[in-house]
Amino acid sequence: MWVQVLFVCGCTLFSWNLAENQGSFTQRQDDKGQCQYIFSVSSPEGSSHCPGGLTEIDGLLSRLTLLEALVSRLVGGTDGEAKPDRERSLQEAYTQVTGERDQLQQDIERLTKQIQELQRRLSKTSLEVESLRLKPCQPHTGHSPNTGSENSLSTDAYQEMRAEVTEVPASHLLPERNQTLNKGCGELVTVEEPVSHKKAESITGKYGVWLQDPEPQGSLYTTNTVWRIDAVGKDVRQLFAYEDMNQFSRGFPMKVLQLPEPVESTGATVYRGSFYYQRRQSRTIIRYDLTSESLVNQQDLPHASFHGQHPYSWGGRTDIDLAVDEQGLWAIYSTDEAKGAIVISKLDPESLEVRQSWETNIRKKTVANAFMICGCLYTVASYTAPNTTINYMFDTSTNAGKAVAIPFKNKYRYNSMVDYNHALRKLFAWDNFNMVTYDLRLLERSSQITS
Ligand code: CA
Repeated sequence: MWVQVLFVCGCTLFSWNLAENQGSFTQRQDDKGQCQYIFSVSSPEGSSHCPGGLTEIDGLLSRLTLLEALVSRLVGGTDGEAKPDRERSLQEAYTQVTGERDQLQQDIERLTKQIQELQRRLSKTSLEVESLRLKPCQPHTGHSPNTGSENSLSTDAYQEMRAEVTEVPASHLLPERNQTLNKGCGELVTVEEPVSHKKAESITGKYGVWLQDPEPQGSLYTTNTVWRIDAVGKDVRQLFAYEDMNQFSRGFPMKVLQLPEPVESTGATVYRGSFYYQRRQSRTIIRYDLTSESLVNQQDLPHASFHGQHPYSWGGRTDIDLAVDEQGLWAIYSTDEAKGAIVISKLDPESLEVRQSWETNIRKKTVANAFMICGCLYTVASYTAPNTTINYMFDTSTNAGKAVAIPFKNKYRYNSMVDYNHALRKLFAWDNFNMVTYDLRLLERSSQITS
């Protein structure tokens, strides 16, 4: 349309010029025998201002042709076919860039994992070296010409230690998970990242207890059965049983048991077919048989503080914490006589009588939780810090404690229960509505622990 308008305007203008200047029209043949039409216009101001005649028309036509081409290109005429090509090439470039970005992200993830694995190995190696360093050195019988001098002894000791490091057998580290899990005891060296299995459905599950029986009895329940109590509330009596971890994660209990007495806090445990717990607002320990669903025994824990006198640092009336390990049933608590320091008692699982007690030198209120492994108490430093430590261990076989620093993660920042399962070699924990487990690594103890 614009081309036509321009052309009409151009013709009108030229016709007007002809009328104004009294032009004449002649016809002749050119050198090639073609017919040529010439307009002659006499100008009053000299030939220097003479309009271009046919030459000007040719110029206008050329310019109109050029404009036509440009308009045609603008409305997608001749370049119409190139547009899809451009879009296609842009799409290909975008796809290529996206692919490279994804590849880079994968590389970053892979390298991050490699770094974490290297850090874990480094940590493990450091612990092994530390363990070997504590080992008493054998008298050196080498052939150094300087035997007897301080210098040569120190060099020899170093060489001996280095040789021992290279000779640590793979079996020195106890297996993490296989058929031999129940065999062998050792010192805790590593707590792995927490693995989440379930999140509680309501506020009653902000804190609680969940466990699997490491040594089940009878045919009704197995090591796969999962036990759970949501511990928020004044009259906590419901004990949920799940067939296995899968049903537990899906939230489908196979049974709900009604306990005869209400439960206090998060210190309960499951052992050899019985559920052991502290009766609310008392120092009474109850043994509840899971098969007969009846209270079979109850016993006061002598002098034990209860109901908020000596809880863990997070409160929650966690005065009496029951625990199970390879050696049996334990109670972790405090007494007025111990002035808040943690007392450990070995309990008879049948009668609930105290067999033996130990008093540690760590205050119960200063730690977040505790558990037993192979007769050793371990305490968690904080229940809220995402990166905290197992900060103390007490060995009942030597009656001695020591500070340790084993990294431990509170992923959800409110860890209200931590207990050990020796059949699975895992820690079970209840962290802010979330039920999690931690894989562990133990190291055979190579030296006596000193306080
Ligand atoms: Ca505990």
